[in-house]
Amino acid sequence: SKKVSDVIEASMQANKLEEKVLLVKTGCFGLCALGPVVIVYPEGVFYSQVTPEHMETIMNDHIIGGNVVKELLYEDTVNEDGTIKSLQETDFYNKQHRVSLRNCGVINPEIIEEYIGTDGYQALHKVVTEMSPDDVIDVMKASGLRGRGGGGFSTGQKWMFAKASESNQKYVCCNADEGDPGAFMDRSILEGDPHCIIEAMAIAAYTIGANQGFVYVRAEYPIAVNRLQIAIDQARDSGIIGKNIFGTDFDFDIEIRLGAGAFVCGEETALITSIEGNRGEPRPRPPFPAVKGLFGKPTVLNNVETYSNIPQIILKGADWFASMGTETSKGTKVFAIGGKIKNVGLVEVPMGITLREIVEEIGGGVPNGKKFKAAQTGGPSGGCIPAKNMDVPIDYDNLIKLGSMMGSGGLIVLDEDTCMVDIAKFYLEFTVEESCGKCTPCRIGTKRLYEILEKITSGNGEMEDLDKIEELSQHMQKSSLCALGQTAANPIISTLHHFRDEYVAHIVDKK
Ligand code: SF4
Repeated sequence: SKKVSDVIEASMQANKLEEKVLLVKTGCFGLCALGPVVIVYPEGVFYSQVTPEHMETIMNDHIIGGNVVKELLYEDTVNEDGTIKSLQETDFYNKQHRVSLRNCGVINPEIIEEYIGTDGYQALHKVVTEMSPDDVIDVMKASGLRGRGGGGFSTGQKWMFAKASESNQKYVCCNADEGDPGAFMDRSILEGDPHCIIEAMAIAAYTIGANQGFVYVRAEYPIAVNRLQIAIDQARDSGIIGKNIFGTDFDFDIEIRLGAGAFVCGEETALITSIEGNRGEPRPRPPFPAVKGLFGKPTVLNNVETYSNIPQIILKGADWFASMGTETSKGTKVFAIGGKIKNVGLVEVPMGITLREIVEEIGGGVPNGKKFKAAQTGGPSGGCIPAKNMDVPIDYDNLIKLGSMMGSGGLIVLDEDTCMVDIAKFYLEFTVEESCGKCTPCRIGTKRLYEILEKITSGNGEMEDLDKIEELSQHMQKSSLCALGQTAANPIISTLHHFRDEYVAHIVDKK
Protein backbone atom coordinates (compact mmCIF):
# COMPACT_ATOMS: atom_id res chain seq x y z
CA SER A 1 0.00 0.00 0.00
CA LYS A 2 2.83 2.35 0.81
CA LYS A 3 4.37 1.81 -2.64
CA VAL A 4 0.99 2.36 -4.29
CA SER A 5 0.34 5.57 -2.38
CA ASP A 6 3.87 6.78 -3.24
CA VAL A 7 2.94 6.44 -6.94
CA ILE A 8 -0.26 8.45 -6.36
CA GLU A 9 1.61 11.21 -4.55
CA ALA A 10 4.34 11.40 -7.21
CA SER A 11 1.78 11.52 -10.01
CA MET A 12 -0.28 14.18 -8.22
CA GLN A 13 2.84 16.28 -7.85
CA ALA A 14 4.03 15.78 -11.43
CA ASN A 15 0.60 16.57 -12.84
CA LYS A 16 -0.16 19.42 -10.40
CA LEU A 17 -3.27 17.68 -9.09
CA GLU A 18 -2.89 18.60 -5.40
CA GLU A 19 -5.74 21.13 -5.64
CA LYS A 20 -8.06 18.75 -7.49
CA VAL A 21 -7.44 15.30 -6.04
CA LEU A 22 -7.38 14.25 -2.39
CA LEU A 23 -5.46 11.14 -1.37
CA VAL A 24 -6.99 9.60 1.78
CA LYS A 25 -4.87 6.91 3.39
CA THR A 26 -7.25 4.75 5.39
CA GLY A 27 -7.24 1.67 7.56
CA CYS A 28 -8.32 -1.76 6.32
CA PHE A 29 -11.46 -1.91 4.20
CA GLY A 30 -12.12 -5.56 5.03
CA LEU A 31 -11.35 -7.46 1.86
CA CYS A 32 -7.86 -8.45 2.96
CA ALA A 33 -7.54 -11.15 0.31
CA LEU A 34 -7.68 -8.45 -2.38
CA GLY A 35 -5.40 -5.83 -0.91
CA PRO A 36 -3.92 -3.36 -1.63
CA VAL A 37 -7.19 -1.69 -2.51
CA VAL A 38 -7.77 1.70 -4.14
CA ILE A 39 -11.26 3.24 -4.31
CA VAL A 40 -11.83 6.22 -6.58
CA TYR A 41 -14.58 8.63 -5.54
CA PRO A 42 -17.12 10.00 -6.30
CA GLU A 43 -17.78 6.96 -8.54
CA GLY A 44 -16.81 4.50 -5.80
CA VAL A 45 -14.86 2.43 -8.33
CA PHE A 46 -13.00 -0.37 -6.55
CA TYR A 47 -9.58 -1.53 -7.75
CA SER A 48 -8.09 -4.57 -6.02
CA GLN A 49 -4.63 -6.15 -5.74
CA VAL A 50 -3.18 -2.93 -7.05
CA THR A 51 0.54 -2.87 -7.82
CA PRO A 52 2.59 0.33 -8.32
CA GLU A 53 2.49 -0.38 -12.09
CA HIS A 54 -1.32 -0.70 -12.01
CA MET A 55 -1.48 2.55 -10.07
CA GLU A 56 0.38 4.43 -12.77
CA THR A 57 -2.21 3.22 -15.28
CA ILE A 58 -5.09 4.15 -12.94
CA MET A 59 -3.64 7.64 -12.43
CA ASN A 60 -3.14 8.24 -16.16
CA ASP A 61 -6.29 6.63 -17.53
CA HIS A 62 -8.85 7.17 -14.74
CA ILE A 63 -7.82 10.07 -12.52
CA ILE A 64 -6.38 12.19 -15.36
CA GLY A 65 -8.08 10.66 -18.41
CA GLY A 66 -11.52 10.06 -16.85
CA ASN A 67 -11.78 6.45 -18.10
CA VAL A 68 -12.28 3.56 -15.69
CA VAL A 69 -9.60 0.86 -16.13
CA LYS A 70 -12.03 -2.03 -16.40
CA GLU A 71 -9.45 -4.80 -16.56
CA LEU A 72 -8.16 -3.83 -13.11
CA LEU A 73 -11.57 -3.74 -11.38
CA TYR A 74 -12.62 -6.19 -8.67
CA GLU A 75 -14.54 -8.76 -10.73
CA ASP A 76 -17.69 -8.60 -8.60
CA THR A 77 -18.11 -4.87 -9.22
CA VAL A 78 -18.73 -5.34 -12.94
CA ASN A 79 -22.22 -6.36 -14.09
CA GLU A 80 -22.74 -8.76 -16.98
CA ASP A 81 -23.63 -5.85 -19.26
CA GLY A 82 -20.33 -4.15 -18.40
CA THR A 83 -21.82 -1.48 -16.12
CA ILE A 84 -20.18 -0.96 -12.73
CA LYS A 85 -21.84 -1.71 -9.39
CA SER A 86 -21.19 0.17 -6.22
CA LEU A 87 -19.14 -1.67 -3.66
CA GLN A 88 -22.16 -1.92 -1.38
CA GLU A 89 -23.94 -3.99 -4.03
CA THR A 90 -21.25 -6.67 -4.20
CA ASP A 91 -21.73 -10.06 -2.54
CA PHE A 92 -18.98 -9.29 -0.06
CA TYR A 93 -20.69 -6.15 1.23
CA ASN A 94 -24.42 -6.33 0.63
CA LYS A 95 -25.18 -8.42 3.72
CA GLN A 96 -22.79 -6.51 5.93
CA HIS A 97 -23.87 -3.81 8.32
CA ARG A 98 -20.97 -1.70 9.47
CA VAL A 99 -21.21 -0.13 12.93
CA SER A 100 -17.86 -1.02 14.50
CA LEU A 101 -16.11 -0.80 11.14
CA ARG A 102 -18.08 2.17 9.82
CA ASN A 103 -15.01 4.40 9.47
CA CYS A 104 -12.44 1.71 8.66
CA GLY A 105 -11.32 2.11 5.08
CA VAL A 106 -13.21 5.40 4.87
CA ILE A 107 -11.40 8.05 6.92
CA ASN A 108 -7.75 8.83 7.50
CA PRO A 109 -7.30 7.67 11.11
CA GLU A 110 -4.41 10.06 11.66
CA ILE A 111 -6.52 13.18 11.09
CA ILE A 112 -8.92 14.05 13.91
CA GLU A 113 -10.99 16.33 11.66
CA GLU A 114 -11.91 13.34 9.51
CA TYR A 115 -13.31 11.55 12.56
CA ILE A 116 -15.14 14.71 13.65
CA GLY A 117 -16.49 14.99 10.10
CA THR A 118 -18.27 11.65 10.51
CA ASP A 119 -20.08 12.67 13.76
CA GLY A 120 -16.98 11.92 15.83
CA TYR A 121 -17.01 13.14 19.45
CA GLN A 122 -20.65 14.23 19.16
CA ALA A 123 -21.70 11.35 21.41
CA LEU A 124 -19.19 12.40 24.07
CA HIS A 125 -20.43 15.98 23.83
CA LYS A 126 -24.02 14.83 24.19
CA VAL A 127 -23.19 12.63 27.17
CA VAL A 128 -21.25 15.22 29.19
CA THR A 129 -23.56 18.13 28.44
CA GLU A 130 -27.02 16.53 28.33
CA MET A 131 -27.00 13.17 30.11
CA SER A 132 -26.50 11.97 33.66
CA PRO A 133 -24.39 8.84 34.30
CA ASP A 134 -27.61 6.96 35.07
CA ASP A 135 -29.07 8.06 31.71
CA VAL A 136 -26.04 6.57 29.95
CA ILE A 137 -26.35 3.30 31.89
CA ASP A 138 -30.05 3.11 30.99
CA VAL A 139 -29.21 3.54 27.28
CA MET A 140 -26.46 0.94 27.43
CA LYS A 141 -28.67 -1.58 29.20
CA ALA A 142 -31.59 -0.97 26.83
CA SER A 143 -29.30 -1.40 23.81
CA GLY A 144 -28.51 -4.97 24.88
CA LEU A 145 -24.81 -4.53 24.03
CA ARG A 146 -22.80 -7.49 25.32
CA GLY A 147 -19.01 -7.70 25.61
CA ARG A 148 -17.44 -8.60 22.29
CA GLY A 149 -14.23 -9.96 23.80
CA GLY A 150 -15.67 -13.39 24.44
CA GLY A 151 -17.49 -13.22 27.77
CA GLY A 152 -20.67 -11.68 26.39
CA PHE A 153 -21.50 -9.89 29.66
CA SER A 154 -23.92 -6.94 29.53
CA THR A 155 -21.91 -3.73 29.10
CA GLY A 156 -24.60 -1.62 30.79
CA GLN A 157 -24.59 -3.85 33.87
CA LYS A 158 -20.81 -3.82 34.06
CA TRP A 159 -20.86 -0.02 34.03
CA MET A 160 -23.66 0.03 36.60
CA PHE A 161 -21.62 -2.10 39.04
CA ALA A 162 -18.55 0.10 38.58
CA LYS A 163 -20.58 3.28 39.08
CA ALA A 164 -22.14 1.85 42.25
CA SER A 165 -18.72 1.02 43.74
CA GLU A 166 -17.71 3.81 46.12
CA SER A 167 -14.14 5.01 45.64
CA ASN A 168 -12.08 8.18 45.38
CA GLN A 169 -10.41 6.78 42.25
CA LYS A 170 -11.76 4.66 39.40
CA TYR A 171 -10.31 3.52 36.08
CA VAL A 172 -11.45 2.72 32.57
CA CYS A 173 -9.40 0.21 30.60
CA CYS A 174 -9.50 -1.08 27.06
CA ASN A 175 -8.48 -4.61 26.27
CA ALA A 176 -6.63 -4.51 22.95
CA ASP A 177 -4.59 -7.62 23.69
CA GLU A 178 -6.29 -9.62 20.95
CA GLY A 179 -4.40 -12.91 20.91
CA ASP A 180 -6.68 -15.58 19.40
CA PRO A 181 -5.07 -17.20 16.37
CA GLY A 182 -6.94 -15.84 13.35
CA ALA A 183 -8.54 -12.81 15.05
CA PHE A 184 -7.59 -9.31 13.91
CA MET A 185 -10.72 -7.20 14.31
CA ASP A 186 -9.47 -5.15 17.26
CA ARG A 187 -6.23 -4.41 15.50
CA SER A 188 -8.13 -3.28 12.44
CA ILE A 189 -10.44 -0.97 14.42
CA LEU A 190 -7.47 0.63 16.20
CA GLU A 191 -5.66 1.05 12.90
CA GLY A 192 -8.69 2.36 11.03
CA ASP A 193 -10.68 4.33 13.62
CA PRO A 194 -8.73 4.91 16.87
CA HIS A 195 -10.69 8.02 17.88
CA CYS A 196 -13.89 6.03 18.37
CA ILE A 197 -12.17 4.02 21.13
CA ILE A 198 -10.99 7.21 22.85
CA GLU A 199 -14.51 8.65 22.62
CA ALA A 200 -16.13 5.50 24.03
CA MET A 201 -13.63 5.24 26.88
CA ALA A 202 -14.34 8.87 27.80
CA ILE A 203 -18.07 8.11 27.81
CA ALA A 204 -17.46 5.11 30.09
CA ALA A 205 -15.28 7.23 32.38
CA TYR A 206 -17.92 9.94 32.68
CA THR A 207 -20.51 7.29 33.46
CA ILE A 208 -18.66 5.51 36.26
CA GLY A 209 -16.79 8.54 37.65
CA ALA A 210 -13.27 7.75 36.42
CA ASN A 211 -10.65 10.22 35.27
CA GLN A 212 -7.90 7.94 33.99
CA GLY A 213 -7.93 5.36 31.23
CA PHE A 214 -5.44 2.78 29.97
CA VAL A 215 -5.39 0.99 26.65
CA TYR A 216 -3.57 -2.33 26.95
CA VAL A 217 -2.42 -3.18 23.46
CA ARG A 218 -0.01 -5.83 22.32
CA ALA A 219 3.36 -4.60 21.13
CA GLU A 220 3.06 -6.80 18.00
CA TYR A 221 0.56 -4.24 16.69
CA PRO A 222 2.94 -1.34 15.97
CA ILE A 223 0.69 0.43 13.45
CA ALA A 224 -2.26 0.25 15.85
CA VAL A 225 -0.12 1.55 18.72
CA ASN A 226 1.26 4.37 16.61
CA ARG A 227 -2.14 5.51 15.30
CA LEU A 228 -3.70 5.27 18.74
CA GLN A 229 -0.94 7.43 20.21
CA ILE A 230 -1.41 9.99 17.41
CA ALA A 231 -5.15 9.99 18.11
CA ILE A 232 -4.68 10.42 21.88
CA ASP A 233 -2.26 13.31 21.31
CA GLN A 234 -4.65 14.98 18.85
CA ALA A 235 -7.64 14.56 21.18
CA ARG A 236 -5.60 16.00 24.05
CA ASP A 237 -4.28 18.92 21.95
CA SER A 238 -7.85 19.67 20.82
CA GLY A 239 -9.13 19.74 24.42
CA ILE A 240 -11.39 16.75 23.78
CA ILE A 241 -9.68 14.76 26.53
CA GLY A 242 -7.79 16.25 29.45
CA LYS A 243 -9.13 18.86 31.85
CA ASN A 244 -12.66 20.30 31.80
CA ILE A 245 -13.90 18.37 28.81
CA PHE A 246 -16.35 20.46 26.72
CA GLY A 247 -16.30 23.13 29.43
CA THR A 248 -17.60 20.81 32.14
CA ASP A 249 -15.83 19.74 35.33
CA PHE A 250 -15.20 16.28 33.84
CA ASP A 251 -11.50 15.42 33.48
CA PHE A 252 -10.24 12.34 31.67
CA ASP A 253 -6.97 11.23 30.10
CA ILE A 254 -5.67 8.05 28.49
CA GLU A 255 -2.32 6.28 28.43
CA ILE A 256 -1.17 3.28 26.43
CA ARG A 257 0.37 0.22 28.04
CA LEU A 258 2.12 -2.30 25.81
CA GLY A 259 1.59 -6.00 26.33
CA ALA A 260 4.44 -8.38 25.58
CA GLY A 261 2.30 -10.89 23.71
CA ALA A 262 1.13 -13.30 26.42
CA PHE A 263 -2.28 -14.71 25.45
CA VAL A 264 -3.32 -14.93 29.11
CA CYS A 265 -3.03 -11.14 29.41
CA GLY A 266 -6.29 -10.92 27.46
CA GLU A 267 -7.95 -12.31 30.61
CA GLU A 268 -9.18 -9.29 32.51
CA THR A 269 -7.50 -9.85 35.87
CA ALA A 270 -4.19 -10.82 34.22
CA LEU A 271 -4.39 -7.70 32.05
CA ILE A 272 -4.96 -5.54 35.11
CA THR A 273 -2.07 -7.21 36.95
CA SER A 274 0.16 -6.55 33.93
CA ILE A 275 -0.80 -2.84 33.79
CA GLU A 276 0.14 -2.66 37.48
CA GLY A 277 3.64 -3.68 36.45
CA ASN A 278 3.51 -7.27 37.68
CA ARG A 279 3.73 -10.61 35.90
CA GLY A 280 0.46 -11.02 33.99
CA GLU A 281 -1.25 -13.81 35.89
CA PRO A 282 -4.99 -14.12 36.57
CA ARG A 283 -6.42 -13.53 40.03
CA PRO A 284 -9.38 -15.34 41.56
CA ARG A 285 -12.77 -13.66 40.98
CA PRO A 286 -14.70 -12.33 42.88
CA PRO A 287 -13.87 -9.60 43.56
CA PHE A 288 -14.62 -8.55 39.99
CA PRO A 289 -12.78 -5.56 38.47
CA ALA A 290 -15.94 -3.40 38.64
CA VAL A 291 -15.56 -3.60 42.42
CA LYS A 292 -11.81 -4.08 42.89
CA GLY A 293 -9.76 -3.80 39.72
CA LEU A 294 -6.72 -1.80 38.68
CA PHE A 295 -4.62 -0.83 41.73
CA GLY A 296 -7.47 -2.20 43.85
CA LYS A 297 -9.92 0.43 42.52
CA PRO A 298 -13.24 -0.04 40.66
CA THR A 299 -12.45 -0.52 36.99
CA VAL A 300 -14.42 -0.89 33.79
CA LEU A 301 -12.67 -3.09 31.25
CA ASN A 302 -14.15 -3.60 27.79
CA ASN A 303 -12.52 -4.72 24.60
CA VAL A 304 -11.95 -2.65 21.46
CA GLU A 305 -14.94 -3.93 19.49
CA THR A 306 -17.31 -3.39 22.42
CA TYR A 307 -16.19 0.22 22.75
CA SER A 308 -16.44 0.83 19.02
CA ASN A 309 -20.24 0.41 19.18
CA ILE A 310 -20.81 2.91 21.98
CA PRO A 311 -20.67 6.35 20.30
CA GLN A 312 -23.19 5.18 17.68
CA ILE A 313 -25.50 3.76 20.36
CA ILE A 314 -25.49 7.13 22.15
CA LEU A 315 -26.16 9.07 18.95
CA LYS A 316 -28.70 6.75 17.31
CA GLY A 317 -30.33 5.37 20.43
CA ALA A 318 -30.73 2.03 22.18
CA ASP A 319 -33.72 1.06 20.03
CA TRP A 320 -31.73 1.45 16.83
CA PHE A 321 -29.02 -0.88 18.13
CA ALA A 322 -31.47 -3.36 19.67
CA SER A 323 -33.36 -3.55 16.37
CA MET A 324 -30.39 -5.46 14.93
CA GLY A 325 -29.58 -9.01 15.94
CA THR A 326 -31.44 -11.69 17.87
CA GLU A 327 -33.49 -11.76 21.06
CA THR A 328 -30.46 -12.27 23.31
CA SER A 329 -27.62 -10.96 21.12
CA LYS A 330 -28.19 -7.43 19.86
CA GLY A 331 -26.32 -5.46 17.24
CA THR A 332 -23.63 -6.63 14.87
CA LYS A 333 -20.50 -8.74 15.19
CA VAL A 334 -17.21 -8.42 13.40
CA PHE A 335 -15.73 -11.71 12.23
CA ALA A 336 -12.22 -12.27 10.95
CA ILE A 337 -12.81 -14.94 8.33
CA GLY A 338 -9.84 -16.99 7.26
CA GLY A 339 -8.69 -20.47 6.38
CA LYS A 340 -10.14 -22.27 3.36
CA ILE A 341 -12.28 -19.44 2.05
CA LYS A 342 -12.07 -17.18 -0.99
CA ASN A 343 -12.67 -13.76 0.55
CA VAL A 344 -10.35 -13.78 3.53
CA GLY A 345 -10.98 -10.64 5.51
CA LEU A 346 -13.02 -8.77 8.07
CA VAL A 347 -16.79 -8.72 7.88
CA GLU A 348 -19.38 -7.09 10.11
CA VAL A 349 -22.80 -8.70 10.08
CA PRO A 350 -25.98 -8.51 12.17
CA MET A 351 -26.11 -11.13 14.91
CA GLY A 352 -28.37 -13.96 13.80
CA ILE A 353 -26.90 -14.33 10.33
CA THR A 354 -26.19 -17.95 9.42
CA LEU A 355 -22.81 -19.50 8.89
CA ARG A 356 -23.92 -20.40 5.36
CA GLU A 357 -24.49 -16.73 4.52
CA ILE A 358 -21.06 -15.79 5.89
CA VAL A 359 -19.17 -18.61 4.18
CA GLU A 360 -20.99 -19.00 0.87
CA GLU A 361 -22.29 -15.51 0.13
CA ILE A 362 -20.00 -13.02 1.84
CA GLY A 363 -16.93 -15.26 1.92
CA GLY A 364 -17.37 -16.48 -1.66
CA GLY A 365 -17.25 -20.16 -0.62
CA VAL A 366 -14.47 -22.70 -0.28
CA PRO A 367 -11.87 -22.43 -3.08
CA ASN A 368 -10.69 -25.16 -5.49
CA GLY A 369 -14.06 -26.91 -5.62
CA LYS A 370 -13.60 -28.41 -2.15
CA LYS A 371 -16.47 -29.06 0.22
CA PHE A 372 -17.02 -27.09 3.41
CA LYS A 373 -16.38 -29.29 6.44
CA ALA A 374 -16.60 -27.04 9.50
CA ALA A 375 -15.85 -23.58 10.83
CA GLN A 376 -13.84 -23.06 13.97
CA THR A 377 -15.02 -20.12 16.07
CA GLY A 378 -13.85 -18.75 19.40
CA GLY A 379 -10.16 -19.59 18.93
CA PRO A 380 -8.47 -21.81 21.51
CA SER A 381 -11.51 -21.54 23.81
CA GLY A 382 -14.03 -22.35 21.10
CA GLY A 383 -15.05 -25.25 18.98
CA CYS A 384 -16.21 -26.11 15.52
CA ILE A 385 -19.54 -25.81 13.75
CA PRO A 386 -20.00 -28.69 11.31
CA ALA A 387 -21.65 -28.39 7.89
CA LYS A 388 -24.98 -29.75 9.17
CA ASN A 389 -25.36 -26.66 11.41
CA MET A 390 -24.64 -24.09 8.71
CA ASP A 391 -28.17 -22.71 8.85
CA VAL A 392 -28.30 -22.07 12.59
CA PRO A 393 -28.43 -18.30 13.31
CA ILE A 394 -25.14 -17.24 14.85
CA ASP A 395 -25.41 -15.56 18.24
CA TYR A 396 -23.81 -15.99 21.67
CA ASP A 397 -26.31 -18.59 22.88
CA ASN A 398 -26.63 -20.68 19.73
CA LEU A 399 -22.87 -21.04 19.42
CA ILE A 400 -22.67 -22.34 22.99
CA LYS A 401 -25.51 -24.77 22.26
CA LEU A 402 -23.48 -26.03 19.29
CA GLY A 403 -20.49 -26.63 21.56
CA SER A 404 -18.53 -23.62 20.31
CA MET A 405 -18.48 -19.99 21.39
CA MET A 406 -18.33 -16.51 19.92
CA GLY A 407 -14.97 -15.69 21.46
CA SER A 408 -13.59 -12.53 19.97
CA GLY A 409 -14.77 -13.40 16.45
CA GLY A 410 -12.12 -15.45 14.70
CA LEU A 411 -13.80 -17.73 12.16
CA ILE A 412 -11.56 -20.27 10.46
CA VAL A 413 -13.11 -22.21 7.59
CA LEU A 414 -11.99 -25.84 7.19
CA ASP A 415 -12.48 -27.88 4.05
CA GLU A 416 -12.95 -31.60 3.43
CA ASP A 417 -9.18 -32.25 3.48
CA THR A 418 -8.76 -30.98 7.04
CA CYS A 419 -8.04 -33.51 9.80
CA MET A 420 -10.10 -32.41 12.78
CA VAL A 421 -7.78 -34.14 15.26
CA ASP A 422 -4.91 -32.06 13.88
CA ILE A 423 -7.02 -28.94 14.35
CA ALA A 424 -7.66 -29.83 18.00
CA LYS A 425 -3.95 -30.53 18.44
CA PHE A 426 -3.04 -27.16 16.91
CA TYR A 427 -5.15 -25.29 19.46
CA LEU A 428 -3.91 -27.45 22.34
CA GLU A 429 -0.32 -26.75 21.39
CA PHE A 430 -1.21 -23.06 21.59
CA THR A 431 -2.73 -23.33 25.08
CA VAL A 432 0.18 -25.46 26.37
CA GLU A 433 2.47 -22.65 25.24
CA GLU A 434 0.29 -19.87 26.63
CA SER A 435 -0.78 -21.38 29.98
CA CYS A 436 0.70 -19.07 32.62
CA GLY A 437 1.38 -22.03 34.90
CA LYS A 438 -0.20 -20.52 37.99
CA CYS A 439 -2.66 -23.38 38.61
CA THR A 440 -2.07 -27.10 38.31
CA PRO A 441 -5.15 -28.25 36.35
CA CYS A 442 -4.24 -26.02 33.43
CA ARG A 443 -0.45 -26.19 33.66
CA ILE A 444 -0.38 -30.00 33.80
CA GLY A 445 -3.76 -30.74 32.20
CA THR A 446 -3.06 -28.99 28.89
CA LYS A 447 0.25 -30.89 28.58
CA ARG A 448 -1.37 -34.27 29.30
CA LEU A 449 -4.14 -33.58 26.79
CA TYR A 450 -1.59 -32.60 24.16
CA GLU A 451 0.40 -35.77 24.83
CA ILE A 452 -2.72 -37.90 24.34
CA LEU A 453 -3.42 -36.15 21.02
CA GLU A 454 0.19 -36.70 19.96
CA LYS A 455 -0.18 -40.37 20.81
CA ILE A 456 -3.36 -40.64 18.75
CA THR A 457 -2.08 -38.76 15.70
CA SER A 458 1.18 -40.72 15.66
CA GLY A 459 -0.71 -44.00 15.39
CA ASN A 460 -0.21 -45.15 18.98
CA GLY A 461 -3.63 -44.25 20.39
CA GLU A 462 -6.02 -46.59 22.19
CA MET A 463 -9.77 -46.34 22.56
CA GLU A 464 -9.51 -45.65 26.30
CA ASP A 465 -7.56 -42.47 25.45
CA LEU A 466 -10.86 -40.95 24.35
CA ASP A 467 -12.36 -41.57 27.81
CA LYS A 468 -9.25 -40.08 29.42
CA ILE A 469 -9.64 -36.94 27.29
CA GLU A 470 -13.21 -36.49 28.42
CA GLU A 471 -12.47 -37.08 32.09
CA LEU A 472 -9.44 -34.77 32.15
CA SER A 473 -11.33 -32.06 30.26
CA GLN A 474 -14.10 -32.08 32.87
CA HIS A 475 -11.59 -31.70 35.71
CA MET A 476 -9.86 -28.82 33.95
CA GLN A 477 -13.14 -27.09 33.30
CA LYS A 478 -14.17 -27.29 36.94
CA SER A 479 -10.91 -26.55 38.68
CA SER A 480 -8.80 -24.19 36.53
CA LEU A 481 -8.44 -20.68 37.86
CA CYS A 482 -9.25 -18.74 34.69
CA ALA A 483 -11.04 -19.14 31.39
CA LEU A 484 -7.87 -20.15 29.56
CA GLY A 485 -7.67 -23.43 31.47
CA GLN A 486 -11.44 -23.81 31.90
CA THR A 487 -11.98 -23.72 28.14
CA ALA A 488 -8.68 -25.17 26.88
CA ALA A 489 -10.24 -28.56 26.16
CA ASN A 490 -13.15 -27.10 24.15
CA PRO A 491 -11.55 -27.64 20.71
CA ILE A 492 -11.05 -31.33 21.58
CA ILE A 493 -14.47 -31.85 23.15
CA SER A 494 -16.13 -30.17 20.18
CA THR A 495 -14.24 -32.14 17.51
CA LEU A 496 -14.70 -35.34 19.49
CA HIS A 497 -18.44 -34.67 19.59
CA HIS A 498 -18.87 -33.85 15.90
CA PHE A 499 -16.04 -35.89 14.34
CA ARG A 500 -15.47 -38.84 16.70
CA ASP A 501 -15.01 -41.11 13.68
CA GLU A 502 -11.78 -39.26 12.80
CA TYR A 503 -10.32 -39.93 16.25
CA VAL A 504 -11.39 -43.57 15.99
CA ALA A 505 -9.90 -43.84 12.47
CA HIS A 506 -6.50 -42.67 13.80
CA ILE A 507 -6.67 -45.28 16.56
CA VAL A 508 -8.03 -48.19 14.52
CA ASP A 509 -5.99 -47.59 11.34
CA LYS A 510 -2.89 -46.70 13.41
CA LYS A 511 -2.05 -43.68 11.26
FE1 SF4 B 1 -2.77 -19.66 34.39
FE2 SF4 B 1 -4.03 -21.64 33.10
FE3 SF4 B 1 -4.43 -21.32 35.67
FE4 SF4 B 1 -5.38 -19.50 33.92
S1 SF4 B 1 -6.04 -21.60 34.12
S2 SF4 B 1 -4.34 -19.12 35.86
S3 SF4 B 1 -3.72 -19.56 32.38
S4 SF4 B 1 -2.46 -21.86 34.69
